Amino acid sequence: MNSIYNYNFKNQKVLIRVDFNVPLNNEKKVTDKSRIVAAKTTIKKVLEDGGTPILMSHLGRPKGKDSEFSLSHIVKDVEDVLGVPVKFTRGVIESQTKELVQKSLPKEVLLLENLRFYPEEQKGDENFAKEISNLGESYINDAFGTAHRAHASTTIIAKFFPQNKFAGDLLQKEIESIKRVMVSGEKPILGILGGAKVSSKITIIENIMSKVDKLIIGGGMSFTFIKALGGRIGDSICEDDKMSLALSIIKKAKEKNVELCLPVDVVCADDFSNSANTKICEINNIPDGWQGMDAGPKSLEIFNKAIMSSKTILWNGPVGVFEMESFSNGTVSVGKSVSQSTNNGSFSLVGGGDSVAAVKKFKFENKVSYVSTGGGAMLESLEGKTLPGIKALE
Ligand code: AMP
Repeated sequence: MNSIYNYNFKNQKVLIRVDFNVPLNNEKKVTDKSRIVAAKTTIKKVLEDGGTPILMSHLGRPKGKDSEFSLSHIVKDVEDVLGVPVKFTRGVIESQTKELVQKSLPKEVLLLENLRFYPEEQKGDENFAKEISNLGESYINDAFGTAHRAHASTTIIAKFFPQNKFAGDLLQKEIESIKRVMVSGEKPILGILGGAKVSSKITIIENIMSKVDKLIIGGGMSFTFIKALGGRIGDSICEDDKMSLALSIIKKAKEKNVELCLPVDVVCADDFSNSANTKICEINNIPDGWQGMDAGPKSLEIFNKAIMSSKTILWNGPVGVFEMESFSNGTVSVGKSVSQSTNNGSFSLVGGGDSVAAVKKFKFENKVSYVSTGGGAMLESLEGKTLPGIKALE
């Protein structure tokens, strides 16, 4: 895979697929610029070389050309992040856009309209990809968040740049951090899996079982394991149809010599509510009318020990209902331990959906080694899949 750092983009028009799928409020103001900031390094590299970055992205899920989803809403934010003016083209493949691109000068930045205004984008239409490719002389993919989609701008387009296709700085960092866990991780390697359901994590568990030395299974998904082992879980969340699967995971862990850490106690509540009555119960002795909402103190001690004695840590999924303050202690405690272990020299990767929201909420973002920017793309990587957007660059 070509790196942008081995190439000079001087005087080139460079198509950069970024992930500017940012959240907007009712007034169409950007509420979180992280994704724009994440693409800055790659855009700056092209600018510093003296090239013309032509930025392209999707935004939301528009049905046709719907101004509500226009990328015009974010132009000001892109300008603020980059510190340079940005020209918005209002289209992608129309003659007026082509003209604007042709007339653009080195070190100017252009932003194309929302790619999903064209149904061809999500269909991975080859003609559409070819038309976009005609706008630039090089192609950089820096949109890890959409690398699991075989869309025109994320995958198909790469074939029109047999030589000049590159992985952007962000994409490269994401790939490297996954490799640092799944391929070349320093032992002992620990996986921390939490979240609500076993069913949504099963492929990840199966894939990482042959890579990790230790595995913490926390959060809502642990109750399916506990019940399968004969425990009393009260009204806790459980997938009865996944109990035999849970038992086969426990068996596989034994066979592979993976140390499986299940919670031993739990903060229970008499209602799924922040203001519910709470008490600590043994994980396998939860009375009816009560449900497990967060990891208990003894479980956190076990988790902490496993985290502190690992050299590589992968964290996906909270170990409690962290959105409610009363049940956030477990996830905060795991975040603290992972931060401390990182400070002691281990490599920690946090990825996939809610664990990312949790590290941001509790401000551990800068205390772990890497926080992935791609939810679905990260989960598919952890499942062991090769993402089409990454494969297309190889
Ligand atoms: P996931 O998207 O599968 O990672 O699941 C994340 C969700 O799991 C979060 O919204 C948590 O509130 C939820 N969760 C974690 N622990 C529990 C629990 N003990 N009971 C119910 N939901 C939980």
